[in-house]
Amino acid sequence: MTGALDALLGPGQRLAILSALVDEQRGLIDQLRQRQRIEHAGRHFWLGLFHGVPVVLTVSRIGKVSASMTAAILIERFAAGAIVFTGVAGALGDAVQVGDVVVAEDFIQHDLDVSPLFARYEVPAYGRARFACHTGLSQALLRSVRHSLARDFASARVHQGLIASGDRFVSGAAEVQALRQRLGQDGHPALAVEMEGAAVAQVCADHGLPYAAMRTISDRADDHAHRDFAQFVEQVASRYAQAIIGHLLSA
Ligand code: SAH
Repeated sequence: MTGALDALLGPGQRLAILSALVDEQRGLIDQLRQRQRIEHAGRHFWLGLFHGVPVVLTVSRIGKVSASMTAAILIERFAAGAIVFTGVAGALGDAVQVGDVVVAEDFIQHDLDVSPLFARYEVPAYGRARFACHTGLSQALLRSVRHSLARDFASARVHQGLIASGDRFVSGAAEVQALRQRLGQDGHPALAVEMEGAAVAQVCADHGLPYAAMRTISDRADDHAHRDFAQFVEQVASRYAQAIIGHLLSA
């Protein structure tokens, strides 16, 4: 196990690997030793050893509510001591291309707006809009992403920064342009848009749990997003997830 993970997991705790989609998770489940599947709240949780590390794997389901519920179950019922998320996302940053990977520094909910009572995007009761990822775990993930891409997907670039989450599949040129502009003007220039990450970040903050997340860019959140997305998940994203998580847990 890597030093970074070693230090994070307490006795009896597991590393949770959360995927957004079943396609991404499949290859990871195949590699589990002492595999056990438990059903709870309509979800399947896979327990076992991955390169000797005790892990729990599951699918977040789509959207912020589903993802928060899944994260809470991982922590409260399956002794998750840290969560790593792998998924796909639409590009927001100018330099971010399909096939690149974004490792999250922090997250914002782009569709949360309790103004004028609170500043736009601010999560009431927390006094802030952004939820940061764990530095050490994110650095370990970043190293694994760099290593895996350099070996197998040399043309892909790695970015690190803000990711925006919301309950909407952003799939229109005008919509993505408006979102990019609004977030930029408000001082939150996000690199990618997806539907779960900020929810998991908030649940992890509530529990003081280390969290790191990577998203492979599957589309440009424009008029072609739905078609690009489907092809990409099938052909590329699941291979990325396997290579990267494999390296993270064996390095
Ligand atoms: N076809 C899928 C639905 C995928 S929804 C199914 O049937 O299950 C899109 C998923 O990918 C979400 O998990 C979201 O986090 C991410 N995503 C990829 N591109 C996105 C975009 N342009 N906007 C929002 N989320 C996106």
